[in-house]
Amino acid sequence: MRIFFSFAALLISNLGWSYQAVPGEYLVQLKPQIKLFSLGQTPIEKTKSLSKLLQANVIKVIGEDIVLIKGAKPLSQNQLIQTIEPNYLYRLNMEPNDPLYGDSWGLSNHGQVDSKGIAGHHGVDINVQAAWNITTGSEKIIVAVIDSGIDFTHQDLKENAWVNLPEANGKPGLDDDGNGYIDDINGWDFALNTPLQKDISGHGTHCAGTIGAKGNDGIGIAGINWNIQIMSLKFFDDEGYGSQAAAIEAIRYAMKMKVRITSNSWGGGPYSEILQSVIKEAGDAEVLFVASAGNDGENSDQNPHYPSSYPLSNIISVGAITNQGSLTKYSNYGAKSVHITAPGKGILSTIPGNEYEIKSGTSMATPFVAGVAALVLSKENLSVQELKSRLLSTATPLPELQGKILSGGLVNAGRAISEVPKF
Ligand code: CA
Repeated sequence: MRIFFSFAALLISNLGWSYQAVPGEYLVQLKPQIKLFSLGQTPIEKTKSLSKLLQANVIKVIGEDIVLIKGAKPLSQNQLIQTIEPNYLYRLNMEPNDPLYGDSWGLSNHGQVDSKGIAGHHGVDINVQAAWNITTGSEKIIVAVIDSGIDFTHQDLKENAWVNLPEANGKPGLDDDGNGYIDDINGWDFALNTPLQKDISGHGTHCAGTIGAKGNDGIGIAGINWNIQIMSLKFFDDEGYGSQAAAIEAIRYAMKMKVRITSNSWGGGPYSEILQSVIKEAGDAEVLFVASAGNDGENSDQNPHYPSSYPLSNIISVGAITNQGSLTKYSNYGAKSVHITAPGKGILSTIPGNEYEIKSGTSMATPFVAGVAALVLSKENLSVQELKSRLLSTATPLPELQGKILSGGLVNAGRAISEVPKF
């Protein structure tokens, strides 16, 4: 017997979601034993509503249409479906801008004043000069910035863009490397499903500068990595919304292209079994997922912020500190769920149009940790678990973070690089 039902009706009647989502779109995860490549046979018949296969057992569905499922039952009893979720929308974790003023206290804090005129505390920084005596990064390391895009025409970023050589040297309009994306030269726009478009908000470009603005070139700022390959995985639209489906595709692209580190300055939405499973899959592929802790000023142990709060061993959740070594008032914290901190108030970095700007938020802290992770990998080839424990165990302890942050500290590039590996 064949039963027809509408996902929209099912969702509204059974569950009380109150988060923002793409209207009418749902992600359906089938039980692991269900094979979706047999679409058109059983158990799900392909219709116009079956809009996209996101991964082996997850499909994006337009809920206004009808999906045909043989033997469909209420979700709790359904033998085929693991879970159904709205296509949640996420936001960038950024605080309002300050006017352009100041310099990179996060890299070197010598007591300079920030954009509000507040003097920093000497040495409250990521101790990157000590690391630079040993390594300034490597073009062999790829970090993916999953964000609003990156302006790779920026003078401080163009030399450190990841380049997909088969596409760069291939023919326009052809998928030269056969990865399913046409002309993905520096990354992809998963919001529009096109080659990269402009970074309208400047958020991703700012994060990219912290990770790897070209160093020692007499121009602008220096990133944590003077040499690196930065991949732009744009999944936010021009209004600052990014969908869950687009995020999943971006994460899977990073896995496919053998990225080891992703920087994720975004969040919102409720617990998602589907997103969690994709990030776990990335961990199994040795991808470190550095995630902003969020800007709610709350204890994430009690009020989780996703994706940073998923209990996965490849996630590092990053809180934001001030130039005086205090947790910012907006940074989430949590002795169990927020792992480390980084500079996140009054951070100077690159923005589109060859310019520089100060921004604040856990969004700005996250690329510091992703950047230090890349610096470590440029010297040592660690597993994702070794890399995470290295960053956490070498953090600089700060009194105000004890009992609030798992490591109790601020990421320390110098110590992370120079610690003698244990055999
Ligand atoms: Ca391609």
